[in-house]
Amino acid sequence: MIYLDNAATTRVKEEVLEAMKPYFCDKFYNPSSIYGPSRDVTKEINNARKFIAQSIGASENEIYFTSGGSEADNWAIKGIALSRKDKGRHIITSKIEHHAVLETCKQLESLGFEVTYLNVNSEGLISLSELEDSIREDTILVSVMSANNEIGVIEPIKEIGEICHKHNVLFHTDAVQSYGNINIDVNDMNIDLLSTSAHKLHGPKGIGFLYVKRGVMISPLISGGNQERGKRAGTTNSALIIGFAKAIELKLRDMKSNNEYVLNLRNHLVTRVMKEIPYVRINGSMENRLPGNINFSFRFIEGEGMLLKLDMAGICASSGSACTSGSLDPSHVLLAIGLPHEIAHGSLRISINEENTMEEMDETVDVLVKVIRELRSMSPLYEDFVKKEGSVNV
Ligand SMILES: *Cc1c(COP(=O)(O)O)cnc(C)c1O
Repeated sequence: MIYLDNAATTRVKEEVLEAMKPYFCDKFYNPSSIYGPSRDVTKEINNARKFIAQSIGASENEIYFTSGGSEADNWAIKGIALSRKDKGRHIITSKIEHHAVLETCKQLESLGFEVTYLNVNSEGLISLSELEDSIREDTILVSVMSANNEIGVIEPIKEIGEICHKHNVLFHTDAVQSYGNINIDVNDMNIDLLSTSAHKLHGPKGIGFLYVKRGVMISPLISGGNQERGKRAGTTNSALIIGFAKAIELKLRDMKSNNEYVLNLRNHLVTRVMKEIPYVRINGSMENRLPGNINFSFRFIEGEGMLLKLDMAGICASSGSACTSGSLDPSHVLLAIGLPHEIAHGSLRISINEENTMEEMDETVDVLVKVIRELRSMSPLYEDFVKKEGSVNV
């Protein structure tokens, strides 16, 4: 099996699992209780919180643990909308956000908020001047992702934050894909709210955090107990928090060498694909991009068929087409960068990390060359195209 879908989720590292284990049985105590064993767990959670806060240049009382990236995104946007609705009801986001952001914005639109969806250029980058022009008197929040989950493009976060602050607008960024892969400093980058998730960086599923800058008023999304300083109720998930801290510790420790290693794998894969497969394009900027992400579109290919054939060969990857999730619409991200439907449908996202090897890259390209050739040989459109092109050997 070759796993090339690390943008979807990652394997929990052995050390992360070991760090979590004691908190299920030996140290199962509710950190909110007052007896000694509970206080010990609280102490360890505080250390984890402090470490995580430092990893983005924040302080520990600016970190709120959530059930993951989706909750953090929902909370950031709904929480600010609720707390600032008397100041204004206009929100700005981009067309390429994760569904956790886009669907939240849609829900707010149905509740009377107005949302501007910024365009991106063919590279997948938003325009800073379009952003500035979109800010109005009643704009309360801008939410633009740090790195995109489909095409890996890294947005100019620091500059976006600068513009927001110039106009007294709060800035939220979904950093689920970038956290642990690029350096993030919330103060230097003018970030007011930031979402992360542990399972994209070898941590457990079901834990993330929302950073909320000190002084920013946000309404709770989950009401109840007094956990997370009264802002996010629910019994503190000790094991997952400890696991998250261990995962980001390892991720940051090895970030530089892992990124170099992963980039080398990706470059090899890209070079071979571009040389050995005709009628292929790369989606998204190559300069501003996460090292582990590559996204191809193959003409005359239907993404679902390609993924099934890759799966049969033991390769796990993902398509830009949303067919697999029961919808026939191609990816909103690929449409936003200007791809026509039929080309967006033939897309393949490969997300590599440091657990992959050069041998896996070579085997993947070998299989891909075969799969694309097979699928195209069954395509009447491709047959017509080749006839017109007068080409015989593709
Ligand atoms: C995975 C992902 C999310 C959702 O995170 P979960 O922890 O799975 O809820 C949000 N945004 C981006 C960019 C993601 O890649």
